[in-house]
Amino acid sequence: MHAPKHIAIVGGGTAGWMTANLLRHRWARLGVDVTLIESADIGTIGVGEGSTPFLRHFFRTLGIAERDWMPACDATYKAGIRFPGWSEVAGYESYVHPFFNEADRELGNQFFTNACLRRRGQAADANPQDFFLAAELARQRRAPHGPGMDYAYHFDAGRLGAFLRTHAIGLGVRHVVDTVARVEQHENGDIAAVHLKTGARVAADVFVDCSGFKGLLITETLGEPFHAYRDNLFNDRAIAMPTPLLDGEDIPPETVSTALRHGWAWRIPLTTRYGNGYVYSADFVSDDAAERELREHLGPAAEGVEARRLRMRVGRVKQHWRQNCVAVGLSQGFIEPLEATALMLIQLSVERFIADLESDGFGRARQAAYNERVNAMFEGVRDYVVAHYQLNTRRDTDYWRANRANRKISDRLASLLEVWDRGGDFEAELERHGAGLMYLRPSWYCLLAGMGRFPAELRAAPQAITASQARDRLKQLARAFGSHRGHLTA
Ligand SMILES: Cc1cc2nc3c(=O)[nH]c(=O)nc-3n(C[C@H](O)[C@H](O)[C@H](O)COP(=O)(O)OP(=O)(O)OC[C@H]3O[C@@H](n4cnc5c(N)ncnc54)[C@H](O)[C@@H]3O)c2cc1C
Repeated sequence: MHAPKHIAIVGGGTAGWMTANLLRHRWARLGVDVTLIESADIGTIGVGEGSTPFLRHFFRTLGIAERDWMPACDATYKAGIRFPGWSEVAGYESYVHPFFNEADRELGNQFFTNACLRRRGQAADANPQDFFLAAELARQRRAPHGPGMDYAYHFDAGRLGAFLRTHAIGLGVRHVVDTVARVEQHENGDIAAVHLKTGARVAADVFVDCSGFKGLLITETLGEPFHAYRDNLFNDRAIAMPTPLLDGEDIPPETVSTALRHGWAWRIPLTTRYGNGYVYSADFVSDDAAERELREHLGPAAEGVEARRLRMRVGRVKQHWRQNCVAVGLSQGFIEPLEATALMLIQLSVERFIADLESDGFGRARQAAYNERVNAMFEGVRDYVVAHYQLNTRRDTDYWRANRANRKISDRLASLLEVWDRGGDFEAELERHGAGLMYLRPSWYCLLAGMGRFPAELRAAPQAITASQARDRLKQLARAFGSHRGHLTA
């Protein structure tokens, strides 16, 4: 087996440092050198503060304990995401997409039963916020931490980058602060070296493009085409604005994603502040009007706070691994941050790259299969995110009406919605699409039921359990969990 001798990573954002850690951790024993080049003149995107539970696996792989990284990154626990304002259906104006826990087994099954009853026109309570432990822990500001619990994190993006940088350098990653000014290619199109502003030349066998939205290597150098998701996902702008967390204020262990007039606003609690932002579409609202709306939404906490305006390139490159270059992070693609999936896609892309290179004896035979797999992951996440917009029932703006009316969705998503709506065999439909969905059965039920996607006319029927009985049971279960703030400061 011939491992690459030298891998050069261009970019020192979260993607660059996650990649550097994973590659060096895995291949240091094979003598693989890793160099990371980042520009002091070009900043990182500076957002990206929520994760999925996959990030736990990332830190476990590297052998980094929560007590070592969480305080250094102002990190908090995340039990799930709450979605107020996406639906106008009575009783379903807000719902939760929880991370699922062992303790959810009993009530979770009763939720699935009720959702199916209601889907078929029988009056049963089926808002996930009444049935899942994560929702109760968030209401009570308790830490979703303990045996059998699944959870994710919130963190300060800048601090996480700094932490990962220190760790990677400790693993032996070479860190170069300089700007790539020119890229040198071999005759066969492979990248031979990057030339830096100070005159240095860095040659390598494999290059990883972590240069952000512009895709310095994959797009600007190799010319890989970009497959935009514009037909499916309208949002292309964001405004970020932090607000203070008051001293002693309880810390909610959840992200809140509130629908506004032309998009949605995130609220991410850290131990020191809230991260907030508005994700919207420039086709429907101006940047100034969006900023005004966000300030209004945040209230007095936003007074005097500077806003950061960002543009988003939503979609993915067609081939993430081309020639001797693999693109990771914003350079490979981005799905708007509604389900906070970008770091998960970074991690899964790098893990698959490692597995495929190793299984092929460090050749390139698996390049096509790799690209197919990564594209399938992107499309799986995209469909789940698009479903939120399809299911919205807001009537206040053209933005929400256009999202609901948009028929340019994948055949897979169209089929899932059709089977759900006609009361067909949804379980079989989920199974038919298998792992390609990325999101599993409970997530689809929570989204469809949580938005109140049910027939308007309902017949009375015996149900598995009422919402108030379920809530009483959740309160009992939640007693075993300590306060979120207490857990973070213990
Ligand atoms: C509004 C918004 C909200 C988001 N929310 C989430 C979230 O909740 N959860 C989540 O997982 N993700 C989220 N993301 C995505 C997340 O921010 C990114 O996936 C993540 O930060 C990785 O970015 P990156 O490292 O690819 O790029 P960047 O952070 O842009 O880093 C690019 C790096 O490349 C370097 N570079 C560029 N050009 C050169 C050059 N010529 N020479 C040398 N170096 C160069 C820069 O110096 C920089 O270090 C969000 C993104 C946006 C836009």
